[in-house]
Amino acid sequence: MAGIHEGPEYGIGDFVLLRQLTLDGFMENLKLRFQKGKIYTYIGEVVVSVNPYRPIDIYNASYVEQYRGREIYERPPHIFALADSAYKNMKRNSKDTCIVISGESGAGKTEASKIIMRYIAAVTNISGQKEVERVKEILIKSNIILEAFGNAKTNRNDNSSRFGKYMDINFDFKGDPIGGHINNYLLEKSRVVYQQEGERTFHSFYQLVSGAPEGLLSELKLSRDSNKYYYISQGGSSQVSTINDKRDFKSVNDAMKASGFAPDHIKTLWRIVAAVIHLGSVKFEADPDQHEQVIISNITEVKDIAKLVSVQVEDLKKALCFRTIAAGGQVVEKGLRESEAYYARDAFAKATYDRMFSWIVGRINEAIDPKVIGMKYVGKNTVIGVLDIYGFEIFDNNSFEQFCINYCNEKLQQLFIELVLKQEQEEYMREGIEWQHVEYFNNKVICDLVEQSHKGILAILDEACLNVGKVTDIMFLQAMATKLNKHDRFTCRSLNPTDKTLEHDRDFRIKHYAGDVSYSVVGFLDKNKDTLFQDFKRLLFNSKDELIRAMWPEGKQSVTETTRRPVTAGTNFKNSIVALVENLASKEPHYVRCIKPNELKSPSVFDDERVGHQVRYLGLMENVRVRRAGFAFRMHYDRFLLRYKCICTKTWPVYRGGDVDGTKCIINEKGFQDDVKYGRSKIFIRSPQTLFSLEETRDAK
Ligand code: ATP
Ligand code: MG
Repeated sequence: MAGIHEGPEYGIGDFVLLRQLTLDGFMENLKLRFQKGKIYTYIGEVVVSVNPYRPIDIYNASYVEQYRGREIYERPPHIFALADSAYKNMKRNSKDTCIVISGESGAGKTEASKIIMRYIAAVTNISGQKEVERVKEILIKSNIILEAFGNAKTNRNDNSSRFGKYMDINFDFKGDPIGGHINNYLLEKSRVVYQQEGERTFHSFYQLVSGAPEGLLSELKLSRDSNKYYYISQGGSSQVSTINDKRDFKSVNDAMKASGFAPDHIKTLWRIVAAVIHLGSVKFEADPDQHEQVIISNITEVKDIAKLVSVQVEDLKKALCFRTIAAGGQVVEKGLRESEAYYARDAFAKATYDRMFSWIVGRINEAIDPKVIGMKYVGKNTVIGVLDIYGFEIFDNNSFEQFCINYCNEKLQQLFIELVLKQEQEEYMREGIEWQHVEYFNNKVICDLVEQSHKGILAILDEACLNVGKVTDIMFLQAMATKLNKHDRFTCRSLNPTDKTLEHDRDFRIKHYAGDVSYSVVGFLDKNKDTLFQDFKRLLFNSKDELIRAMWPEGKQSVTETTRRPVTAGTNFKNSIVALVENLASKEPHYVRCIKPNELKSPSVFDDERVGHQVRYLGLMENVRVRRAGFAFRMHYDRFLLRYKCICTKTWPVYRGGDVDGTKCIINEKGFQDDVKYGRSKIFIRSPQTLFSLEETRDAK
């Protein structure tokens, strides 16, 4: 079977080997390969993957066999080769590795992460140990559970992950999986109460309504018609042709059971989902006696909810209509106005779902914790981390969520640049080869703009949030304009009155590495404060259901107890991303860069403009340049000799000397001695042309 060269009709399998490096040349090659069903292409060891939008039969057992234990250049580009390389490096060097998967919504990140996990499952546990099989089953099943509660249909992707996910898989000294751990990042909880036209909320809601048996449905006081419920019908697209909610309800329940969720707990989870659905139907009206204050218009729903979350109806009514505040040592109850009551209801629904999601992740972590499941650590335990996290987002209207997501991508891009360069540098040092400095754009200035203490956008936002009720979003914008007026990556109208691209006074713009994005400040303060009245926390902490109580531990604080101001959502996110980046940096990274070929989910359309944009902002050209700046190609001596010995009279058919000498014979005979360097274990070839020439001579044999 052919190696990296699959034949000229398929273009070039590694962008490093492009004859001329231009964006047009890059795009032409990518397009040709996509049209020929070759969705993977390398940049050195980075895999570029284009979503085929159709099933391709390249993941079956025979493919697993072709890639198992091979070197990356020995077979045509494939994500299996990358998975194998991560696995092999971990096993061989007892070093933690990680696989970072990036790309925009719908580009194929989650599918890629599942393909990688299935590959690892397929090549491990040769001896068929029962407990390892069980670990593998739970690791794979955990995806079904997380996707049910954390994915949703959006206009970009029918199965869009609305949270970031990092998963460690633990291996024992033999290289068999013995457990894992998942970290989740920023669930898009606003979706619980609001969806755009054409979108849905999380799959779990529709699974319950379509799939629950009659008995359960009536116990939860639900009807099959999801259009009856405000929170889950706003997008007007409850039915999705690619999704079978009824069948999925069953799979999720099976997956939860298989992962050791207690039947009572599973029931409670569905009760919470049902309670959230009913919350969307709760209505308020002005109290006829006291106009400034609301009463509940439809008490039946409230009674149902109280029952579902095991609290007293009176307590729930009070939490929905009043707010308890401690002022001057006294506890007062303040009635809510209509807008406040709806706001509080929505905050309650979002928080309830968000807490439940975090609990589910925690429960899965218990199920896969090597210690809890009784796996013994013998010798060194190593991990492969897989990161599937939201890509860069530019919408027509960008808000706090996009700001956080794009900041996360800046951090990951910074890590990518540093690590790709660092890895190159380290390899040269290891091999005793001189390193040449490569110019590249360092996006640290943009990360600083967001995260720097005192001066960064998040710090300015937190400061604005300290003055509850007094500071508005617009005042926050003014504060940024004053403090960041010299920053060349930040602008807003007051700093730049003639700039026509800033549509509104309320917008600010960041020049991201991936392009300019305008954010509307509307809602920034609210979303950052992420207020949920204490009353709701206490309410659920006093639930009769032990699981719900466990989700709200801080509810035990009394009203007057002075509590520390909770960490804001922005700072919380920043801290988790900083920790994530540190964690990734400590591992040997592998990269998958996913590309979405078109907006139509079509298997045949390659939209040059859309793809070109992604190629630019994923920094793929830069990546190729860095790779080519030093040495385009490198290979272990033994492999090199094996591959090219047929093109040299001195090494063919048999060569009795050492690998290095044999390699030198080939290079000298072909006249490439000025284009190579000999490292300790590998030969380094500077220009791609040398490799083409070697390959062509070999093909001609
Ligand atoms: P998001 O950021 O919205 O979560 P994503 O990058 O995770 O997006 P996926 O959900 O992985 O995107 O992919 C979207 C859809 O594209 C899949 O549901 C599937 O239909 C198709 N797809 C992706 N990768 C492949 C593949 N390798 N083979 C076949 N179809 C694929
Ligand atoms: Mg996804």
